[in-house]
Amino acid sequence: MLTSTGWLTPLGHGVHCIDTGYQRPQLAAAYLVVDAGEAAFIDTGTARSAERLLAALEHLGLERRAVRWICPTHVHLDHAGGAGVLLQELPQARLVVHPRGARHLVDPGRLEAGVRSVYGDAEFERLFGRIVPAPAARVVEAGDGLELPLGKRVLGFVDTPGHARHHYSVWDPASRGFFTGDSFGLAYPEVCCADRPFVFPTTTPVQFDPEAWDQTLDRYLARRPERMYLTHFGMVGQVPALAADLRRRIAAVAELARGLPRAERSISALRGKLAEYLATELESCGLGAQALEAALRTFAMDLDLNAQGLQVWLQRLDAQAP
Ligand SMILES: [Zn+2]
Repeated sequence: MLTSTGWLTPLGHGVHCIDTGYQRPQLAAAYLVVDAGEAAFIDTGTARSAERLLAALEHLGLERRAVRWICPTHVHLDHAGGAGVLLQELPQARLVVHPRGARHLVDPGRLEAGVRSVYGDAEFERLFGRIVPAPAARVVEAGDGLELPLGKRVLGFVDTPGHARHHYSVWDPASRGFFTGDSFGLAYPEVCCADRPFVFPTTTPVQFDPEAWDQTLDRYLARRPERMYLTHFGMVGQVPALAADLRRRIAAVAELARGLPRAERSISALRGKLAEYLATELESCGLGAQALEAALRTFAMDLDLNAQGLQVWLQRLDAQAP
């Protein structure tokens, strides 16, 4: 069915983009893939988004028991927070999780405590709702190379560290596309470079790893993808060009963080450097003053999280130094 609502957009090849409504419109997506009467969700949004994902099924005329797989790309709550609630509502579904993330969804206590300590209890409730544990018996661990059938196609799971070590991406041969979670960076539809989307790394705490990320980009390109489905936000093409942009920007943000003298590695200093770099990159895309200001507002929350993640990464490098 090719109808589009404000929050449900068909992308072709049986792939539908759902705006989960997290924080603001067009910030966080979940994807619904439908093939020969079977369905899979890739990323779930938060527990608060579950209602919208269920509404998407209804909108497309799919029974709840048509959903075979729920596939959070990694266990950050804007991607996996809705997994437990969805399992309760989707009786045939199994939860497909990276081996490093599985225990965090079966027993989400530690994950939840970590996020509460960052956001505070009131904000946690507002943003994420109630985290429901996933029954271990319904969990499938997705090691690198796992393949799972969906209707007439086979979804492939590829280990893609760099943003997080518990991160996989899903290869869809039918559309020659990867569902990339956060491993292909952020590209918001409202911020565009001259001739292509503007991608920026997400170095969110606590497992940023620029070297691993570089290899992840090689793994993507090896399959010659024609499109990438980003959680933040939407489908992009021009994959080799965007991969080159992202690779260069990952190296640059690592370098600007490492370049700060040890005594000056505060969150605010890191954020300042990041904002400066982002502005330079946007300017070189040809954005005028007004568009530049709007773009920096769009990335404001990401700059906060990225600065925190870079600080954690620098501390890890220091701890590893001989
Ligand atoms: Zn994310």
